[in-house]
Amino acid sequence: MVEHPESGITAGGESGPFRDILSKEHARRGKPPLHFADMDPDTRIAKAKELGLPKFRVRQLANHYYSHLSVDPEEYTDFPAARREDAVSAFFPTLIAPLLRQKADNGTTVKTLWRLFDGSRIESVLMRYPNRATLCISSQVGCGMGCPFCATGKLGLTRNMSTGEILEQVRVAAKAMRDGAIAGGPGRLSNVVFMGMGEPMGNYRSVLSAIRQISAQPPEGFGISARNITVSTVGVVPGIKKLTAEGIPVRLAVSLHAPNDRLRDELVPMNRRFDTTQVLDAAHDYYLASKRRVSIEYALMRGINDQAVHARQLANRLNHYGDDWAHVNPIPLNPIEGSKWTASDPHDEKVFLDILHQAGITATLRDTRGSDIDGACGQLAAKELLSRES
Ligand code: SF4
Repeated sequence: MVEHPESGITAGGESGPFRDILSKEHARRGKPPLHFADMDPDTRIAKAKELGLPKFRVRQLANHYYSHLSVDPEEYTDFPAARREDAVSAFFPTLIAPLLRQKADNGTTVKTLWRLFDGSRIESVLMRYPNRATLCISSQVGCGMGCPFCATGKLGLTRNMSTGEILEQVRVAAKAMRDGAIAGGPGRLSNVVFMGMGEPMGNYRSVLSAIRQISAQPPEGFGISARNITVSTVGVVPGIKKLTAEGIPVRLAVSLHAPNDRLRDELVPMNRRFDTTQVLDAAHDYYLASKRRVSIEYALMRGINDQAVHARQLANRLNHYGDDWAHVNPIPLNPIEGSKWTASDPHDEKVFLDILHQAGITATLRDTRGSDIDGACGQLAAKELLSRES
Protein backbone atom coordinates (compact mmCIF):
# COMPACT_ATOMS: atom_id res chain seq x y z
CA MET A 1 0.00 0.00 0.00
CA VAL A 2 1.31 3.43 -0.85
CA GLU A 3 1.55 5.55 2.25
CA HIS A 4 0.39 9.10 1.61
CA PRO A 5 2.17 11.85 3.47
CA GLU A 6 -0.12 13.61 5.94
CA SER A 7 -1.50 16.56 4.09
CA GLY A 8 -4.34 19.05 4.06
CA ILE A 9 -6.38 16.45 2.24
CA THR A 10 -7.13 13.86 4.86
CA ALA A 11 -7.92 10.19 4.41
CA GLY A 12 -11.35 9.62 2.93
CA GLY A 13 -11.44 13.16 1.60
CA GLU A 14 -9.28 12.89 -1.46
CA SER A 15 -11.97 13.57 -4.01
CA GLY A 16 -12.62 17.03 -5.32
CA PRO A 17 -10.36 19.37 -7.15
CA PHE A 18 -7.97 20.40 -4.40
CA ARG A 19 -4.52 18.89 -3.92
CA ASP A 20 -1.66 20.28 -1.91
CA ILE A 21 0.57 22.27 -4.21
CA LEU A 22 3.96 20.69 -3.71
CA SER A 23 7.29 22.40 -3.91
CA LYS A 24 9.85 20.89 -6.25
CA GLU A 25 11.85 20.20 -3.07
CA HIS A 26 8.90 18.27 -1.61
CA ALA A 27 9.92 15.85 1.13
CA ARG A 28 13.15 14.99 -0.62
CA ARG A 29 15.31 15.36 2.39
CA GLY A 30 14.27 12.79 4.95
CA LYS A 31 13.11 13.20 8.50
CA PRO A 32 14.52 15.56 11.12
CA PRO A 33 16.52 13.95 13.96
CA LEU A 34 14.32 12.57 16.70
CA HIS A 35 14.02 14.96 19.63
CA PHE A 36 12.82 14.50 23.21
CA ALA A 37 9.59 16.28 22.22
CA ASP A 38 8.96 13.71 19.47
CA MET A 39 9.23 10.74 21.82
CA ASP A 40 6.52 9.16 23.95
CA PRO A 41 7.39 8.30 27.57
CA ASP A 42 8.36 4.68 26.77
CA THR A 43 10.63 5.74 23.92
CA ARG A 44 12.36 8.24 26.21
CA ILE A 45 12.98 5.56 28.83
CA ALA A 46 14.23 3.07 26.22
CA LYS A 47 16.58 5.67 24.77
CA ALA A 48 17.90 6.53 28.23
CA LYS A 49 18.51 2.84 28.84
CA GLU A 50 20.53 2.61 25.61
CA LEU A 51 22.73 5.35 27.04
CA GLY A 52 23.01 3.49 30.35
CA LEU A 53 20.87 6.05 32.16
CA PRO A 54 18.25 5.04 34.74
CA LYS A 55 14.61 6.00 34.29
CA PHE A 56 14.62 8.92 36.75
CA ARG A 57 17.08 10.77 34.50
CA VAL A 58 14.27 11.18 31.93
CA ARG A 59 12.33 13.26 34.40
CA GLN A 60 15.41 15.39 35.05
CA LEU A 61 15.81 15.93 31.31
CA ALA A 62 12.17 16.98 31.01
CA ASN A 63 12.68 19.38 33.87
CA HIS A 64 15.69 20.99 32.19
CA TYR A 65 13.89 21.30 28.88
CA TYR A 66 10.38 22.39 29.85
CA SER A 67 10.92 24.08 33.22
CA HIS A 68 14.37 25.64 32.71
CA LEU A 69 14.16 25.90 28.90
CA SER A 70 17.73 24.65 28.75
CA VAL A 71 19.62 22.44 26.31
CA ASP A 72 23.00 23.55 27.65
CA PRO A 73 24.86 20.58 29.22
CA GLU A 74 26.77 22.99 31.52
CA GLU A 75 23.50 23.75 33.26
CA TYR A 76 22.64 20.10 33.89
CA THR A 77 24.34 20.15 37.26
CA ASP A 78 22.18 17.35 38.68
CA PHE A 79 23.58 15.05 35.97
CA PRO A 80 26.92 13.23 36.26
CA ALA A 81 29.40 15.55 34.51
CA ALA A 82 30.65 12.78 32.22
CA ARG A 83 27.14 12.03 30.90
CA ARG A 84 25.77 15.50 30.23
CA GLU A 85 27.07 15.99 26.69
CA ASP A 86 25.92 12.53 25.57
CA ALA A 87 22.47 12.95 27.05
CA VAL A 88 21.95 16.38 25.51
CA SER A 89 23.11 15.35 22.04
CA ALA A 90 20.98 12.18 22.14
CA PHE A 91 17.78 13.84 23.36
CA PHE A 92 18.08 17.44 22.21
CA PRO A 93 19.70 17.53 18.76
CA THR A 94 19.87 21.06 17.32
CA LEU A 95 16.81 21.32 15.10
CA ILE A 96 16.64 25.03 14.33
CA ALA A 97 19.47 27.51 13.91
CA PRO A 98 18.95 31.26 13.50
CA LEU A 99 19.99 32.62 10.10
CA LEU A 100 18.67 36.14 10.31
CA ARG A 101 16.94 38.37 12.87
CA GLN A 102 14.95 41.47 12.10
CA LYS A 103 13.68 43.87 14.74
CA ALA A 104 10.94 46.49 14.62
CA ASP A 105 8.73 48.49 16.96
CA ASN A 106 11.75 49.54 19.08
CA GLY A 107 12.89 45.97 19.47
CA THR A 108 9.56 44.64 20.78
CA THR A 109 8.91 42.76 17.52
CA VAL A 110 11.56 40.23 16.56
CA LYS A 111 11.32 38.07 13.50
CA THR A 112 13.69 35.14 13.11
CA LEU A 113 14.48 33.19 9.98
CA TRP A 114 15.50 29.66 10.98
CA ARG A 115 17.49 27.04 9.12
CA LEU A 116 16.36 23.46 9.70
CA PHE A 117 18.56 20.35 9.58
CA ASP A 118 18.01 19.88 5.84
CA GLY A 119 18.59 23.51 4.86
CA SER A 120 14.86 24.34 4.86
CA ARG A 121 13.88 27.82 6.02
CA ILE A 122 11.02 28.72 8.32
CA GLU A 123 10.28 31.72 10.49
CA SER A 124 8.74 32.84 13.73
CA VAL A 125 7.80 36.28 15.05
CA LEU A 126 7.77 37.39 18.68
CA MET A 127 5.57 40.39 19.43
CA ARG A 128 5.70 41.96 22.83
CA TYR A 129 2.81 44.12 24.05
CA PRO A 130 2.39 45.87 27.42
CA ASN A 131 0.33 43.03 28.87
CA ARG A 132 1.35 39.97 26.84
CA ALA A 133 3.97 38.47 24.55
CA THR A 134 2.81 36.49 21.54
CA LEU A 135 4.85 34.16 19.39
CA CYS A 136 3.70 33.36 15.86
CA ILE A 137 5.13 30.00 14.77
CA SER A 138 5.42 27.87 11.63
CA SER A 139 4.19 24.28 11.36
CA GLN A 140 5.17 23.37 7.80
CA VAL A 141 8.01 24.27 5.46
CA GLY A 142 6.18 26.30 2.83
CA CYS A 143 2.46 25.75 2.37
CA GLY A 144 0.47 23.68 -0.09
CA MET A 145 -2.74 25.70 0.00
CA GLY A 146 -1.77 27.93 -2.91
CA CYS A 147 -3.51 31.19 -1.95
CA PRO A 148 -2.42 33.46 -4.77
CA PHE A 149 -1.93 36.61 -2.67
CA CYS A 150 0.43 34.93 -0.20
CA ALA A 151 4.21 34.73 -0.31
CA THR A 152 4.32 31.32 1.38
CA GLY A 153 1.73 29.97 -1.04
CA LYS A 154 4.16 30.70 -3.86
CA LEU A 155 6.62 28.22 -2.39
CA GLY A 156 4.38 25.18 -2.30
CA LEU A 157 4.71 22.58 0.45
CA THR A 158 8.19 21.20 1.07
CA ARG A 159 7.43 19.12 4.14
CA ASN A 160 5.72 18.92 7.48
CA MET A 161 7.70 20.00 10.50
CA SER A 162 8.28 17.62 13.39
CA THR A 163 6.90 18.31 16.85
CA GLY A 164 10.45 19.00 18.03
CA GLU A 165 10.97 21.61 15.31
CA ILE A 166 7.68 23.31 16.17
CA LEU A 167 8.37 23.23 19.89
CA GLU A 168 11.91 24.56 19.63
CA GLN A 169 10.56 27.85 18.25
CA VAL A 170 8.54 28.17 21.45
CA ARG A 171 11.35 27.19 23.82
CA VAL A 172 13.80 29.68 22.32
CA ALA A 173 11.26 32.53 22.49
CA ALA A 174 10.19 31.65 26.03
CA LYS A 175 13.84 31.66 27.08
CA ALA A 176 14.51 35.01 25.35
CA MET A 177 11.55 36.52 27.20
CA ARG A 178 12.57 35.06 30.56
CA ASP A 179 16.18 36.20 30.17
CA GLY A 180 15.25 39.76 29.21
CA ALA A 181 16.68 39.39 25.69
CA ILE A 182 13.69 41.25 24.20
CA ALA A 183 13.29 45.02 24.68
CA GLY A 184 11.31 45.68 27.84
CA GLY A 185 13.24 43.51 30.28
CA PRO A 186 12.50 40.02 31.59
CA GLY A 187 8.96 38.78 31.03
CA ARG A 188 6.97 35.72 30.12
CA LEU A 189 5.87 34.29 26.80
CA SER A 190 2.10 34.21 27.27
CA ASN A 191 0.56 33.41 23.87
CA VAL A 192 1.35 31.19 20.90
CA VAL A 193 -0.37 31.44 17.53
CA PHE A 194 -0.02 28.93 14.70
CA MET A 195 -0.11 31.60 12.01
CA GLY A 196 3.36 31.41 10.52
CA MET A 197 4.27 29.26 7.56
CA GLY A 198 1.99 26.39 6.72
CA GLU A 199 -1.49 25.03 7.31
CA PRO A 200 -1.54 23.53 10.83
CA MET A 201 -4.36 21.11 9.94
CA GLY A 202 -2.15 19.73 7.17
CA ASN A 203 0.30 18.56 9.86
CA TYR A 204 -2.30 17.64 12.41
CA ARG A 205 -0.50 15.00 14.46
CA SER A 206 2.65 17.03 15.10
CA VAL A 207 0.69 20.22 15.73
CA LEU A 208 -1.57 18.50 18.27
CA SER A 209 1.38 17.00 20.09
CA ALA A 210 3.03 20.45 20.12
CA ILE A 211 -0.15 22.03 21.54
CA ARG A 212 -0.22 19.44 24.31
CA GLN A 213 3.42 20.10 25.18
CA ILE A 214 3.10 23.88 25.02
CA SER A 215 0.13 23.82 27.38
CA ALA A 216 0.99 21.05 29.87
CA GLN A 217 2.36 22.18 33.20
CA PRO A 218 6.15 21.80 33.66
CA PRO A 219 7.88 19.40 33.62
CA GLU A 220 5.52 17.90 31.01
CA GLY A 221 5.25 21.11 29.01
CA PHE A 222 5.87 24.85 28.98
CA GLY A 223 2.76 25.73 30.99
CA ILE A 224 1.29 28.24 28.51
CA SER A 225 -2.49 27.96 28.92
CA ALA A 226 -4.28 26.26 26.01
CA ARG A 227 -6.67 29.22 26.10
CA ASN A 228 -3.74 31.37 24.99
CA ILE A 229 -2.95 29.19 21.97
CA THR A 230 -4.55 29.94 18.60
CA VAL A 231 -4.71 27.47 15.74
CA SER A 232 -5.36 29.08 12.40
CA THR A 233 -6.71 27.21 9.42
CA VAL A 234 -7.65 28.11 5.90
CA GLY A 235 -10.72 25.87 6.33
CA VAL A 236 -9.62 22.25 6.30
CA VAL A 237 -12.95 20.98 7.63
CA PRO A 238 -11.87 17.46 8.71
CA GLY A 239 -9.09 19.07 10.76
CA ILE A 240 -11.53 21.49 12.45
CA LYS A 241 -13.78 18.53 13.30
CA LYS A 242 -10.91 16.54 14.76
CA LEU A 243 -9.83 19.50 16.84
CA THR A 244 -13.40 19.96 18.10
CA ALA A 245 -13.42 16.34 19.26
CA GLU A 246 -10.14 16.78 21.20
CA GLY A 247 -11.83 19.14 23.65
CA ILE A 248 -8.74 21.31 24.18
CA PRO A 249 -9.77 24.93 24.76
CA VAL A 250 -7.48 26.47 22.13
CA ARG A 251 -8.82 29.33 20.06
CA LEU A 252 -9.70 28.53 16.47
CA ALA A 253 -9.00 31.11 13.77
CA VAL A 254 -10.42 30.62 10.29
CA SER A 255 -8.91 32.51 7.38
CA LEU A 256 -12.07 33.30 5.46
CA HIS A 257 -10.98 36.27 3.33
CA ALA A 258 -14.23 36.25 1.32
CA PRO A 259 -17.95 36.10 2.16
CA ASN A 260 -19.10 33.97 -0.80
CA ASP A 261 -17.92 30.93 -2.71
CA ARG A 262 -17.38 32.62 -6.05
CA LEU A 263 -14.82 35.02 -4.60
CA ARG A 264 -13.34 32.59 -2.11
CA ASP A 265 -12.79 29.96 -4.82
CA GLU A 266 -10.41 32.45 -6.37
CA LEU A 267 -8.67 33.70 -3.23
CA VAL A 268 -8.45 30.44 -1.29
CA PRO A 269 -8.26 27.42 -3.60
CA MET A 270 -9.09 25.07 -0.70
CA ASN A 271 -12.62 26.52 -0.90
CA ARG A 272 -13.25 24.35 -3.96
CA ARG A 273 -12.86 21.35 -1.68
CA PHE A 274 -14.62 22.71 1.45
CA ASP A 275 -16.88 25.66 0.70
CA THR A 276 -17.83 28.61 2.91
CA THR A 277 -20.94 26.86 4.27
CA GLN A 278 -18.98 23.78 5.31
CA VAL A 279 -16.23 25.91 6.83
CA LEU A 280 -18.60 28.19 8.77
CA ASP A 281 -20.70 25.22 9.94
CA ALA A 282 -17.55 23.53 11.29
CA ALA A 283 -16.31 26.77 12.88
CA HIS A 284 -19.66 27.33 14.59
CA ASP A 285 -19.68 23.73 15.86
CA TYR A 286 -16.24 24.43 17.30
CA TYR A 287 -17.65 27.44 19.11
CA LEU A 288 -20.56 25.41 20.50
CA ALA A 289 -18.28 22.66 21.77
CA SER A 290 -15.49 24.86 23.14
CA LYS A 291 -17.46 27.96 24.17
CA ARG A 292 -14.59 29.91 22.69
CA ARG A 293 -15.29 32.64 20.21
CA VAL A 294 -13.89 31.81 16.78
CA SER A 295 -11.67 34.37 15.06
CA ILE A 296 -12.52 35.06 11.46
CA GLU A 297 -9.43 36.35 9.67
CA TYR A 298 -10.10 38.52 6.67
CA ALA A 299 -7.24 40.04 4.67
CA LEU A 300 -8.57 43.20 3.08
CA MET A 301 -7.54 43.45 -0.57
CA ARG A 302 -8.14 46.62 -2.48
CA GLY A 303 -11.20 46.47 -4.74
CA ILE A 304 -11.45 42.69 -4.41
CA ASN A 305 -13.08 41.78 -1.10
CA ASP A 306 -13.11 45.09 0.80
CA GLN A 307 -16.27 46.78 -0.44
CA ALA A 308 -19.48 47.54 1.49
CA VAL A 309 -21.31 44.73 -0.27
CA HIS A 310 -18.74 42.24 1.02
CA ALA A 311 -18.99 43.54 4.59
CA ARG A 312 -22.79 43.23 4.50
CA GLN A 313 -22.60 39.74 3.11
CA LEU A 314 -20.05 38.70 5.74
CA ALA A 315 -22.23 40.10 8.54
CA ASN A 316 -25.25 38.17 7.21
CA ARG A 317 -23.32 34.94 6.92
CA LEU A 318 -22.08 35.21 10.51
CA ASN A 319 -25.36 36.43 12.02
CA HIS A 320 -27.09 33.46 10.43
CA TYR A 321 -25.58 31.33 13.23
CA GLY A 322 -26.55 33.68 16.07
CA ASP A 323 -24.90 36.42 18.09
CA ASP A 324 -21.47 36.82 19.46
CA TRP A 325 -19.90 33.53 18.39
CA ALA A 326 -17.26 34.99 16.10
CA HIS A 327 -14.85 37.87 16.18
CA VAL A 328 -13.75 39.29 12.85
CA ASN A 329 -10.18 40.41 12.36
CA PRO A 330 -9.90 42.38 9.15
CA ILE A 331 -6.19 42.55 8.34
CA PRO A 332 -4.76 45.10 5.97
CA LEU A 333 -3.01 42.91 3.41
CA ASN A 334 0.75 43.01 3.53
CA PRO A 335 1.28 42.85 -0.22
CA ILE A 336 3.99 40.76 -1.81
CA GLU A 337 6.16 42.59 -4.27
CA GLY A 338 4.90 42.58 -7.82
CA SER A 339 1.50 41.17 -6.87
CA LYS A 340 -1.84 42.43 -8.21
CA TRP A 341 -3.33 42.02 -4.72
CA THR A 342 -2.71 45.11 -2.70
CA ALA A 343 -3.74 46.68 0.62
CA SER A 344 -7.11 48.40 0.95
CA ASP A 345 -7.70 52.09 1.03
CA PRO A 346 -7.94 53.20 4.71
CA HIS A 347 -11.36 54.75 4.00
CA ASP A 348 -12.66 51.40 2.68
CA GLU A 349 -11.24 49.65 5.74
CA LYS A 350 -13.17 52.00 7.98
CA VAL A 351 -16.43 51.56 6.07
CA PHE A 352 -15.97 47.78 6.16
CA LEU A 353 -15.47 47.81 9.91
CA ASP A 354 -18.40 50.20 10.52
CA ILE A 355 -20.79 47.94 8.61
CA LEU A 356 -19.75 44.94 10.69
CA HIS A 357 -20.18 46.89 13.93
CA GLN A 358 -23.59 48.18 12.88
CA ALA A 359 -24.64 44.60 12.22
CA GLY A 360 -23.66 43.68 15.79
CA ILE A 361 -20.46 41.85 14.86
CA THR A 362 -17.38 42.39 17.01
CA ALA A 363 -14.48 43.26 14.78
CA THR A 364 -11.10 44.85 15.27
CA LEU A 365 -8.63 45.83 12.63
CA ARG A 366 -5.63 43.64 13.34
CA ASP A 367 -2.45 45.54 13.83
CA THR A 368 0.19 44.72 11.31
CA ARG A 369 3.10 44.50 13.65
CA GLY A 370 6.34 44.11 11.85
CA SER A 371 4.96 45.01 8.44
CA ASP A 372 8.16 46.97 7.90
CA ILE A 373 10.17 43.77 8.41
CA ASP A 374 8.42 41.44 5.99
CA GLY A 375 6.03 40.65 8.78
CA ALA A 376 3.32 38.82 6.87
CA CYS A 377 3.21 35.08 7.24
CA GLY A 378 6.09 33.43 5.47
CA GLN A 379 7.20 36.61 3.82
CA LEU A 380 10.79 36.70 5.04
CA ALA A 381 11.50 33.05 4.27
CA ALA A 382 9.64 33.29 0.99
CA LYS A 383 11.62 36.32 -0.11
CA GLU A 384 14.87 34.62 0.78
CA LEU A 385 13.95 31.43 -1.05
CA LEU A 386 12.56 33.10 -4.12
CA SER A 387 15.71 35.19 -4.41
CA ARG A 388 17.83 32.04 -4.20
CA GLU A 389 15.76 30.44 -6.96
CA SER A 390 15.94 33.39 -9.32
S1 SF4 B 1 -2.49 32.37 3.10
FE1 SF4 B 1 -2.01 30.79 4.66
S2 SF4 B 1 -3.01 28.93 3.80
FE2 SF4 B 1 -2.89 30.38 2.09
S3 SF4 B 1 -0.95 29.83 1.04
FE3 SF4 B 1 -0.49 31.45 2.57
S4 SF4 B 1 0.22 30.34 4.41
FE4 SF4 B 1 -0.90 28.88 3.09
